[in-house]
Parts: sequence; structure tokens; C-alpha cells
Amino acid sequence: MAKLYLDDSYLKECEAIVTKVVDAKFVELDQTIFYSQGGGQPSDSGKIVKENGEEARVVFAKAFGENISHQIEPEGILNEGEKVRCVLDWEKRHKHMRMHTCAHILAGVINKEIGALITGNQLGEEESRMDFNVPEFDKELLKTFEQKGNEIISRGLEITVSYEAREKALARPELFRLKDVLPKDIPMLRIVSIGDFDIQADGGTHVANTREIGKMKITNFKNKGAQNRRIYWTLSENTQ
Ligand SMILES: [Zn+2]
Repeated sequence: MAKLYLDDSYLKECEAIVTKVVDAKFVELDQTIFYSQGGGQPSDSGKIVKENGEEARVVFAKAFGENISHQIEPEGILNEGEKVRCVLDWEKRHKHMRMHTCAHILAGVINKEIGALITGNQLGEEESRMDFNVPEFDKELLKTFEQKGNEIISRGLEITVSYEAREKALARPELFRLKDVLPKDIPMLRIVSIGDFDIQADGGTHVANTREIGKMKITNFKNKGAQNRRIYWTLSENTQ
């Protein structure tokens, strides 16, 4: 199943063929624009439109190996071999893209400032959070993270996607800030670069330029255990 969002995160619609239907509500396609939940980024939603105009809502997308299963409502209206059109809930996806690129910037800033590794993150439309591991932490640093992050955003850096052979990529530990999400058994790894600031092996959807992110604000901080810290952030639209 071709995942079109990997090379073009801005595709809002695509044609597809239904290749498999399980239990009348789990649908596989020959190609898709729906991002499946993973790497801290929530599943896309949207609709699948039949040739006769009938529509199924896509309420959830989940990856099983190389395939993505699209859960539809109402069930039973899509059939194998059918030609359909996929339409994303774009507003929601674009918020996830802004949040995801911002998460990489924040992780890069945190790593550069205090050498901490990111242990988890959860992106949302309105608010996202990130956990990092460091024994001693001074809350004053939150202002530095926010300021440096916004500096990077305002530089208008371009985000580019490339691919690297697994072996070669694995020899570069700096590409894996979140080791536990490394995809298994994939011969070519997708690499996401943010200008000259950051480079990561990653399967998420990103904006094309950091200016699209808007302004980042760190809204909350929690100690989660002896070494684990959690920050929350929001984004506001770029009004320039
Ligand atoms: Zn990512």
C-alpha cells in the first residue's frame, strides 16, 4: 500500500482502489493519504467517497505491517475492487503537521541545551506534550526552550524528506532521538531535515517551512518521576 503522505504531506485528496474489507468496517486501499496513528501523531480522519457519491467516514487509521487499515462508518458500504476517492480532514491534519515539526524543533533545542533524550511525545490539535529524561532540571530553562524554539521557527527553514539505507542510517545515532519508534524491517529509512538545524529518521507528516508553525508557547511543566520531565505547548497562527 503506497503511503502518499510520506512524500507529499499536502495531498488533501487521492483516488484509490479498495483492496480488502475485513468485518465490513476495516478497509485497505492500494494507496492512501490517511496517516495512521503512530510516533506520537494521532490518526487522520476524513471520508472515502464512492463513485455513486455515497460517503463513508474514516474514523481511525491503524498500521499493520506495511498496510493501513481504515476504520469506516457506517460499516458495510465499501466493497473490494471498488474505485473510491479519499478526502482528508485537512484542518486537523495541518495542525498535526505544525505540531509535529515543532516537536522536532523542541526536541532538538532540549537536546542541544541540556543533552536530554526525548522519552515520549503526544501531539494534539490544540496542545501537545513531550517527555524528556534529565536528573537535574531548572524550570527557568523553559523560557530558553521557548525562545530558542521560536527563533528557529522564525528563521523560515525548509523541511525536506530523503531516504537512506537502513544500515547507513543506523550508523548515525543522532538520527534517532526516539529510539523506541524505529520501524522494524524497513530497508530504506525516511529522513526528515529541518534546514541545517535538525535531521531525524521519522515517519510523520511535516510542514514545508518552519514559518507555517506559527508561534510556540510552553504552557505547562510537570515532574514525572525522578528523572522524567513533561512539557506542554500550544501554537498560535502566524499573523505576519
Ligand atoms: Zn517525528
